[in-house]
Amino acid sequence: MRCPFCAAHDTRVLDSRLANEGDQVRRRRECTACKERFTTFEMVELALPRVIKRDGVREPFDEKKLRSGMLKALEKRPVVSDDIEAAINRIKHSLMTNGEREITAQDLGEKVMKELSLLDHVAFVRFASVYRSFQDVSEFTEMIADLQNKI
Ligand SMILES: [Zn+2]
Repeated sequence: MRCPFCAAHDTRVLDSRLANEGDQVRRRRECTACKERFTTFEMVELALPRVIKRDGVREPFDEKKLRSGMLKALEKRPVVSDDIEAAINRIKHSLMTNGEREITAQDLGEKVMKELSLLDHVAFVRFASVYRSFQDVSEFTEMIADLQNKI
């Protein structure tokens, strides 16, 4: 942490304690160069990224939209709700932990397809055929062949 007074790079932590009911760590620091003291606060950043649509428009990550897209693909399929929720949580977890502030709709779609391919073959194909803009038919059949290899 750079000193805000003299811009020296080396500061010493004098004291660390929890703040804001444990959501933050408050650190008392001292600059090793000018000896000025200052306080820093550290907190977890677990924000979900914004989604970049194909036309470049950014919109907030929408869990409802994600769930309804997956449920649509899973309509009348024998998949229990708990497994669907677990898949949604894995997607959210990976988005939160990778630390990126933005994700393309395409990358998000790939994550959804990966989860659907584990849940249900039919749902995966339904979703993939709508979500992914296939370059040509061979790409589609390649993907199906790849999926069948995994089963
Ligand atoms: Zn300093």
